[in-house]
Amino acid sequence: MDTNAPTGGQPDIAVTTAPAAETVARLRATFNTGRTKPVAWRKQQLKALRNLLTEHEDVFVQALQADLGKSATESRMTETGFLVREIDHTLRHLDRWLRPKRASVPLSLVPAHAWTVREPLGVVLVIAPWNYPLNLALAPVIGALAAGNAVVLKPSEVAPATSAVLARWLPRVLDPQAVAVVEGGVPETTALLEQRFDHIFYTGNGAVGRIVMTAAARHLTPVTLELGGKSPAVVEPGADLATAARRIALGKFMNAGQTCVAPDYVLAIGEAGAELEAHLTQAVREMYGTDPARSNDYGRIVNERHFDRLAGLLNDGRTVVGGDTDRDTRYIAPTVLADVDPDSPVMRDEIFGPILPIVRVPDLDAAIAFITGRDKPLALYAFTASRRSKRRLTAETSSGGLAFGVSLLQLSVLDLPFGGVGESGMGHYHGSYSLDTFSHLKAVLEKPLKPDTLGVATPPYTPLKDRILRRIA
Ligand code: NAD
Repeated sequence: MDTNAPTGGQPDIAVTTAPAAETVARLRATFNTGRTKPVAWRKQQLKALRNLLTEHEDVFVQALQADLGKSATESRMTETGFLVREIDHTLRHLDRWLRPKRASVPLSLVPAHAWTVREPLGVVLVIAPWNYPLNLALAPVIGALAAGNAVVLKPSEVAPATSAVLARWLPRVLDPQAVAVVEGGVPETTALLEQRFDHIFYTGNGAVGRIVMTAAARHLTPVTLELGGKSPAVVEPGADLATAARRIALGKFMNAGQTCVAPDYVLAIGEAGAELEAHLTQAVREMYGTDPARSNDYGRIVNERHFDRLAGLLNDGRTVVGGDTDRDTRYIAPTVLADVDPDSPVMRDEIFGPILPIVRVPDLDAAIAFITGRDKPLALYAFTASRRSKRRLTAETSSGGLAFGVSLLQLSVLDLPFGGVGESGMGHYHGSYSLDTFSHLKAVLEKPLKPDTLGVATPPYTPLKDRILRRIA
């Protein structure tokens, strides 16, 4: 794709190629001047980013098409449009989120005032993955800037067109003294991880998550790890199975299944399984036609390595719908597999592609035991008409997020945190939760020097002081 397209006659600005240490030192020097702290600076950055995303949306849409074959509508919905909503929400509420919060003081300290203030952390590193290569790069950057930090962004080399667009455009519209884009793969990321950051925000797989956390530990740098895992969709008989199938299929086959919160597999309770097979087939046909390879709305697998991995999973069950592949175009049809053995390879690791296994379980107890016997997922979905089942799933399972009656859409609720637990990650972000992640909550106490009411807590201690302290402390 042409990343040079809408330059608007502006001069070329070099992409950050300076060695990692130099880049971080430059950003740290900027941070230390206090330049990123004023709320006006933060809002200006967010507005500039918003303008870039709206005025040059086509550049991003083209890049996403080149990297993942994403349709323009899907890119607008899940990438550019998502980010614009996140920026608007942040701009609307930032002043309130930054307001100091009062804390009550104990009687023994009166007169005194206590409150918390959010202070920026310093220079933060954002390492992004390839599957939503724009959203998952910029959503953390929005939070980091709103909190007043300098930011190094490392986009994913696996989505090279989007990475190139970010590297080209961000230094043009954002403050280049405070924001740097470092492109590259493992060597470049490793060089960055040698540096001392004040926070590292990583999205990707758990193996690299461990590398990131190990590197961060050397500098005692806090981390947010946005990881993945196998997110189940529990389906009970008695639910509206046609609608459930449509909503599971939407979440699963969007971006050709390469979505961290996609339903990874279905846990069909009792007789729900057989009916669901027919409804899922119908849902796939409605969304992508009888030949999804010809649908403009259906994406492609990001590269041959992932294509080969996914193609190897297609025989792990009876094919209900799909199963076709084309390596030349990295096409894998939306595929539903039934009669899947829970110990088969497709049920071992996160699928991260358009293959939906259906595993049958006899009842909700078995479904809960299945979920809790495995790693904690990033998302849990349930389609049930039973309030008791909803209560039980909420209380008896653990997951990053939980959604009843839909998949993926918990991410569109701006006031909900997004993050994993256990193997699916640590920490969370979006909206005000990004401010929590990228700020230090400083505790402040102010006690006037007069009157000096601390005499009672000051030695020498007497029986009287002891009695008073026991009453007020
Ligand atoms: P990826 O291959 O793009 O890797 C992510 C980042 O890690 C890239 O920037 C890459 O350069 C860097 N990286 C790769 N190897 C490295 C190494 N050895 N040392 C240092 N850095 C390295 O993406 P991926 O990991 O294939 O992404 C898919 C995974 O991410 C899935 O498990 C998915 O569920 C998860 N994911 C989670 C979320 C979330 O928000 N929780 C979102 C998207 C993806």
